[in-house]
Amino acid sequence: MQKKHNQVDIKLLESEILNGDIKSISKALTLIESNLPQYHNLGNELVNSLTKHKKNSLRIGITGVPGVGKSTFIDAFGTLLTESGKQVAVLAIDPSSGESGGSILGDKTRMNELSKHPKVFIRPTAAGTTLGGVARATRESIFLCEAAGFDVIIIETVGVGQSETMVHSMVDFFLLLMLSGAGDELQGIKRGIMEMADALVITKADGENEKKAEMASREYANAMHLFPPKKSEWVPLSFTCSSQEKKNIDKVWNTIESFENQTKINGWFEEHRHIQDKYWLRETLKEMILDEFFENDDLLEQLKLKEEQVFKGEISSFQAAETLFNAFNSKVRGTN
Ligand code: GDP
Repeated sequence: MQKKHNQVDIKLLESEILNGDIKSISKALTLIESNLPQYHNLGNELVNSLTKHKKNSLRIGITGVPGVGKSTFIDAFGTLLTESGKQVAVLAIDPSSGESGGSILGDKTRMNELSKHPKVFIRPTAAGTTLGGVARATRESIFLCEAAGFDVIIIETVGVGQSETMVHSMVDFFLLLMLSGAGDELQGIKRGIMEMADALVITKADGENEKKAEMASREYANAMHLFPPKKSEWVPLSFTCSSQEKKNIDKVWNTIESFENQTKINGWFEEHRHIQDKYWLRETLKEMILDEFFENDDLLEQLKLKEEQVFKGEISSFQAAETLFNAFNSKVRGTN
């Protein structure tokens, strides 16, 4: 009886999401992210039934160090998009919230203009989750936003830690925001992240800072010429913008549109999505297998014993892993 009632709710939620109802997306995400299996399973059921309705949104990743001007930029950029009739979602990933309980992205009022817009969906990461958990939640959020018919999904992350790589693996276009004053920032942002960028935009190019920003942009453009060519055949651009003066915000969008056109013609757009889907299928599977191991008290107990034996030099870590794997294997076979 209970299940039937829930099923009705899920159907209702599904049709509300398909109608682009923002509150229902939040409700669905709360279900998916719930630690209670009955809610979590309902969330999964919803995601499954929405699969056939999946639409094609453009997914844009935006990263940069704290203070580079991400939220101010997304505010201006998202507003520009909504003014041209696009429906925009912003999913913010804050890698600090899981580890420290604190937050880099969440502490302040962000995206003042955009958050007032009734059709814009803005969601921070659920706090207290692991990077793997965050990745999954973000993928599911993207999925729901696509089903709800959003045209542009922006995924924002702080330019520290591993979260950029994760965001890069779930977006079509990756935008790196940088401050002028080069040298220092080159060290702050790892070269690998610069190599991932499809465009590099120097922020705060206004007032006294304008010339410096132009110079930095040229330096970065030169540096980027030395990077290996991209599989997308897209040649990354570097330019400046000012979110405060709304300068070059449209150039960012035009660049992204050119990228979309070019990669849809040469086939990369679709190929890239397939590569990403394959990657995430495998990642999710790995995580499920790991969870199964690490959520089993008996196996954890055995793990502790093996660790001690390894510390004492009684067995090698390889041997310990193999024994544990065998124990895991027989448990899985035993329960299925
Ligand atoms: P985030 O931490 O990357 O999200 O950065 P914020 O968007 O919060 O911006 C950090 C600071 O830079 C704030 O004080 C903003 O007012 C300022 N800022 C952001 N964009 C611009 C800009 O285009 N020009 C100038 N002059 N300041 C900006």
